[in-house]
Amino acid sequence: APAGAYIGRFAPSPTGPLHAGSLVAALASWLDARAAGGRWLVRIEDVDTPRCIPGAGEFILQQLAACGLVPDAQPLWQSARGPTYQQALDHLVAEGAAYPCACSRKDIEKAQLALGHARERHAALPYPGTCRHGLNGRAGRSWRFRVPAGLPPTEWTDRRLGAQQQDVATDIGDFVLRRADGLWAYQLAVVVDDAAQGITHIVRGEDLADNTPRQILLQRALGVATPQYLHTPLVCGDNGEKLSKQNGAQALDLGQPVRALEQAARALGLPALAHPHNTCSGDALAQWVRAWSRNYNGPS
Ligand code: GLU
Repeated sequence: APAGAYIGRFAPSPTGPLHAGSLVAALASWLDARAAGGRWLVRIEDVDTPRCIPGAGEFILQQLAACGLVPDAQPLWQSARGPTYQQALDHLVAEGAAYPCACSRKDIEKAQLALGHARERHAALPYPGTCRHGLNGRAGRSWRFRVPAGLPPTEWTDRRLGAQQQDVATDIGDFVLRRADGLWAYQLAVVVDDAAQGITHIVRGEDLADNTPRQILLQRALGVATPQYLHTPLVCGDNGEKLSKQNGAQALDLGQPVRALEQAARALGLPALAHPHNTCSGDALAQWVRAWSRNYNGPS
C-alpha cells in the first residue's frame, strides 16, 4: 500500500446477527475509512468455534450489504487462518516471547491465593506466572505470551478517549495465545490479521478498549506496526446495560436499513436525517461521511 494509505476494518464475531450495538462499530469504521478516502475491509472472527453460530457470518455480511456497507475486498475468515497463527506462535516461541503453560483454571486460582491475592469479584487477577520458567515436568496445555519484565506501562492515545495506559504485567500478566482446547485466542488472531490485512486504523466498540495494550505488546513482539485506535461509544438498552448478543439485543431489521443506520448514527453524535422516510441508505451515508469529517477532523 502507498505510504499514508488508510485501511480500516470491521471484525465481527459470528456469535449472532448484527444488532444495534454492533452496527455502531460497523458504521463508524466505514465512515472513518470513507472520510479518509481509504479502504474498508471486513473480517469474520470465527475462531471461538463453540460460540459461533453456523451461517451467522454470511448473515452479517448480508445485513451490512443491506445497510450499504460493502467491503472493498473479499472478507477474511479467521477459521481459515490456523497455519498463519501457528507461524506467528512459532516465531514468538523461537524468540522466547511465548511459552507453554500447564495450568488449569484451578491451578491458577490456587497460585493466586498462595500469593495472597484477595478474591475480588469484579477484577480479574493476573496470571501468577507459574509456568514462566518451565513446566517442571507437567504437560503443556495452552501457550502464553511472556509480557516483557520491567516495562513502563503501555501507553496509547485513543482518538476519542485520549491518553490511555495500562501496566499489562501487573494487571493481566502473561496472557493466552492458544487455548488448552487448541483454539486460537482473540489477542493473537486479531494482531496477526490486522497486520496481514495492512490495517492502519482500528475503529471498534469501547468494550474492546482494554484489549489494546495487550495487542500493542504483541505487535511489538511480532515486529508489526501499531495502528491508530478509535473506540466508539456503547449503545445501552432500555435496562441501561450495554447492548449485546448475550443480553438479548434484537437483530437489525433488514427491511428498515435507514432506520437502523440512523439509530447508529445518533449514537455517534451524527445529525439526524432531514427526510428519513425518503432517504436511501446511500444518501444517508454520504451525509454522515461529511459530518464525520467535521466531528473527527479526519483520522490522525
Ligand atoms: N471480533 C471482536 C468482537 O466482535 C472484535 C474484534 C476487534 O474489533 O478487534 O467483539
